[in-house]
Amino acid sequence: MELFFDDIRLDADALLGGAGQGLRLALETLGRVRLGQVGARAIGKATHVLGLMTDHANERRQFGQPIGNFQLIQQMIADSVMEISAARLMLHRAAWMIDQGLPARDWIAMVKVQASETLGRVVDRAVQVFAGMGYCKDLPIERYYRDARVYRIFDGTSEIHRTTIARSALKHGAALFDVAG
Ligand SMILES: Cc1cc2nc3c(=O)[nH]c(=O)nc-3n(C[C@H](O)[C@H](O)[C@H](O)COP(=O)(O)OP(=O)(O)OC[C@H]3O[C@@H](n4cnc5c(N)ncnc54)[C@H](O)[C@@H]3O)c2cc1C
Repeated sequence: MELFFDDIRLDADALLGGAGQGLRLALETLGRVRLGQVGARAIGKATHVLGLMTDHANERRQFGQPIGNFQLIQQMIADSVMEISAARLMLHRAAWMIDQGLPARDWIAMVKVQASETLGRVVDRAVQVFAGMGYCKDLPIERYYRDARVYRIFDGTSEIHRTTIARSALKHGAALFDVAG
């Protein structure tokens, strides 16, 4: 749906923020939304899918034992746990910076990329752990797999956020981590 605001006049008390500050306000708001709507949601989905993966690895038996006993299955589970944990800590850090009034743009960009790409890897592993059943529509795994793909596209593609991160790194070098609080 497209909205058009042509020739609309508002009273001065309808001004949000200061005059000429609209773009800054809009970008700040978009950043906060990105953290919750994309970052936290992607991490929540990845966590849910990890739970389905571990339940299945405990229940599904092949060669007389649960598939969770196989080290290659364990690797997929362990990598998912580590990557979700890293994304979750980054999310908390970015949220903390916003609460402190610190500039969080780079951290929000990092969370967006980390969380969305973690979700992609976790659901991909889930399809592998569920194997044939993961590919079929009887279970929601294949839908999670399809849905996860858009997280790397909407609210700024991974490429655009990487550009933001790289620009800051090129400007600040290793001091990036100090600058970022
Ligand atoms: C399901 C869904 C929901 C959406 N919801 C919303 C919404 O609510 N609000 C909204 O505003 N938009 C929304 N979008 C749009 C979304 O934000 C855009 O699709 C996204 O920003 C990419 O723009 P584009 O599709 O035009 O791709 P393009 O800009 O054409 O990009 C194509 C490719 O080129 C790369 N690229 C482009 N520019 C650069 C660059 N400077 N440097 C490096 N690589 C670059 C991109 O990363 C991508 O890989 C939604 C999209 C989808 C699929």
